[in-house]
Amino acid sequence: MRGLEVIMRLTVPPAPLDIAREFPELVPYARTTTLLYPRAGSPVRDESSLGGPLLWPADEPWPMCAAPDHYNPARDCAVVGPAPVAMVPVLQLFARNVPAMVFPVGADVLQVLWCPLIHSEYDQHSPVPVLRWQSAADLADRRLLDQAPRPYEFDDEYVPRPCVIHATEAVEYPNWDMPEELSERVGKWSEEIEESCGISYYDAFTTQQSKIGGYPGWTQPPNWPICTCGSPMEHLLTISASESCGRWLPVEERTRPGCGWETSDDPELQHDSHEMIMGDGGGIYVFVCRTCPTWPTVHRYDC
Ligand SMILES: [Zn+2]
Ligand SMILES: [Zn+2]
Repeated sequence: MRGLEVIMRLTVPPAPLDIAREFPELVPYARTTTLLYPRAGSPVRDESSLGGPLLWPADEPWPMCAAPDHYNPARDCAVVGPAPVAMVPVLQLFARNVPAMVFPVGADVLQVLWCPLIHSEYDQHSPVPVLRWQSAADLADRRLLDQAPRPYEFDDEYVPRPCVIHATEAVEYPNWDMPEELSERVGKWSEEIEESCGISYYDAFTTQQSKIGGYPGWTQPPNWPICTCGSPMEHLLTISASESCGRWLPVEERTRPGCGWETSDDPELQHDSHEMIMGDGGGIYVFVCRTCPTWPTVHRYDC
């Protein structure tokens, strides 16, 4: 299968400091994340992608959204409808490409779609991700959809340009998700190392880019959901507007001037990626409850 050959892991540069020596209290907060590094390309339907075509059974209805109040801010916020709007593919992940990710029994493909319009206040004025867990073996036995329907109305801030992904495991630390007292001390230490090393703790050890697991790439204070069963939900994945990476820019891409520790808003220094602006450099975070047998998910949005 082509997908087996194309997915290339990238090389994350070593951390600029040894956190275990410099700030040992942070060590228990280390989490493994899989950074997706979406890059504009031409993914095919049997490979992992962000915004690429999905393996979708021809006899299964394509997800449509008929929310009564979804709207397109580009058109004076007029409510769209009433005809249902086709959802767009956001993510397709094969288990073989994301070994650190847990799939439900019998599934080895995750597909994420959303309606590319803004939804109600209850839905945080954002698209609402819809997840499908599939089995590649089941899909191989079925006739597949050749062409997904296109939405007749969309906000292009939420329609990803097709990208291949480079799923790469890394260790990260929290930007917000720690006790207040620790957070204050980390903030002070961050200023010190920025003075001495030219990079802050937040740029060096936390990530704000599309990823699986690890910490949500919050751009605002955390807003962790609790499942209806009472369990705290786990961060499953982040889709982030920011893919410029700074310190996390992989070794293979450090070819342009200025690609050091700094994060740049200069489009010349940004890598070609999905081009979703998501409000103003925001993110959509998907959470799952694995205590409930159906693995319910909810999302959070900030910008
Ligand atoms: Zn909708
Ligand atoms: Zn639950």
